[in-house]
Amino acid sequence: TYTLRDILTKTVTDAGARPDSTALTFDGRDMTFGELDARSTALAAGLAAAGFRKGDRVSVIMYNRLEWIELFFALAKLGGVLVPVNYLLAPSEMQYIVEDSDSRWILVEDALAPAVTPIADQLTGRTIVEVGERTGLGTAYEDLVADPDTAASFVLPDVRADDLFLLQYTSGTTGFPKGAMHTHSTVLWNTYHQIVDFDLRNDDVYYVVPALCWAAGFHDCGLATLWRGGRLVIGRSTGFDAGVFLDQVEKQRVTKVLLVPTVLARVLDHPEFDRYDTSSLRMVLSGGEPVPPSSLDGLKSKVPACDVLQVYGMSEFPTLMLLMSGEDAATRSGSTGKACSAAVIKIVDENDVEVPPNTVGQIICRSPANMIGYYNKPDATAETLANGWLHTGDLAGYDEDGFVYMAGRAKDMIISGGLNVYPAEIERVLAAHPDVLEAAVVGEPDEKWGEIGVAHIVVRDDAPADPASVEEHLRAHLAGFKVPRVYRITTDPLPRTTSGKVQKHRLQQVRPGT
Ligand code: ATP
Ligand code: MG
Repeated sequence: TYTLRDILTKTVTDAGARPDSTALTFDGRDMTFGELDARSTALAAGLAAAGFRKGDRVSVIMYNRLEWIELFFALAKLGGVLVPVNYLLAPSEMQYIVEDSDSRWILVEDALAPAVTPIADQLTGRTIVEVGERTGLGTAYEDLVADPDTAASFVLPDVRADDLFLLQYTSGTTGFPKGAMHTHSTVLWNTYHQIVDFDLRNDDVYYVVPALCWAAGFHDCGLATLWRGGRLVIGRSTGFDAGVFLDQVEKQRVTKVLLVPTVLARVLDHPEFDRYDTSSLRMVLSGGEPVPPSSLDGLKSKVPACDVLQVYGMSEFPTLMLLMSGEDAATRSGSTGKACSAAVIKIVDENDVEVPPNTVGQIICRSPANMIGYYNKPDATAETLANGWLHTGDLAGYDEDGFVYMAGRAKDMIISGGLNVYPAEIERVLAAHPDVLEAAVVGEPDEKWGEIGVAHIVVRDDAPADPASVEEHLRAHLAGFKVPRVYRITTDPLPRTTSGKVQKHRLQQVRPGT
């Protein structure tokens, strides 16, 4: 069958292949498709010699670097399972993922060894491989990579399209992270649709800014660019600098890039933006939250040929389920777009019955790119994949033309006096209050109303923390039943995941009483 390793087969051995063209650039080093193919086979052979068995899971705790991509293809060749671990997590959170995924192997970059050392004792029975400088934690990566003769005689095991390839852990915004299971086939579908939807070409140069360990790192466009025969420029994981970014865009003639809205705004605000030649840019992908109109306009005026594509996705569908072009964004402000070419979506009520336009319901999705389940979580799997549709847990409505407007998470919805209240709507209004730094609205049980809205509001140290003025502001903009009954005002920041999402379940537990 056709599996992920055939992405390299196509670029290295097929007719019209380009084994000598550059596949990857990182830190001033180039790697051709031929080298990537050879290195990943040598690593696969070395892992096999060290006892790697098909189906083994490998937790990867690494910053962006070339070895990441080598490992990706080595595992594709071996029938291994990749478990990207977010390097920003605390040691105990990393341990949770290593254990939950039953990883037999852990790949650690030298600079991240301090995160693994405190948990190393609990991780016995697993092989630790160190990448980069030796720190003494485990086997050296370079020692593992087989010599060319051994690699040349290595026979790849049989790998099938429906074999497990990836456990993509969710961010843990609503509880413990869950391992979304992806096969070669679901990842391939995820990748293939991007070639179509982003019109990728073999002269595209995609700049990977986010961490490769995030669903949005390699799967958003990176893998698709390689499949198409284009080139990846991989950015460093630490210390994003808008000047360095612009310099790379100019020098490498970058055509496509993913920047979250806050980073895009920083790039556009760079005082010397116009000094750099950014005319090669054709597409900026952005997502996680809406791109403000000021950024859309800014980019349009500075780089007229560049489109901004806004995206929505998740670990269960990494990660471009909905897309919206800049052109559409100009007339559909606030929308997250329409389904990508590999997905059919519907917005439904609690019984999975489609709701009419302009009504809020849950987004569900039918696609060959959907995960096949959560690892070791049969109940959550059954619930999420009920009736053959992926239930995203996100609420939204669509307009007459099918453009989707997000309304927050289903878990966050408050039912007060029988009426549905969407915290996202209230939070948008709260954010516009001059004294409010950030705010989150959660539901709490109430005898009379069933549930009531509780607003957690973070104000500056010197701001007047006056609930009455906040409530008045809300009443001026929202129907009365939506206005929260309780206000908890603080100067402590809200609890967030490493990717910046507010963890509402922690608000409900951590901040009881007033
Ligand atoms: P967990 O599932 O563990 O609670 P999580 O849902 O935050 O965590 P991810 O899979 O990393 O974990 O994130 C996917 C979620 O992010 C989506 O379900 C959605 O709620 C949110 N999201 C993604 N893209 C967008 C976007 N463009 N606009 C609004 N929300 C988005
Ligand atoms: Mg989720």
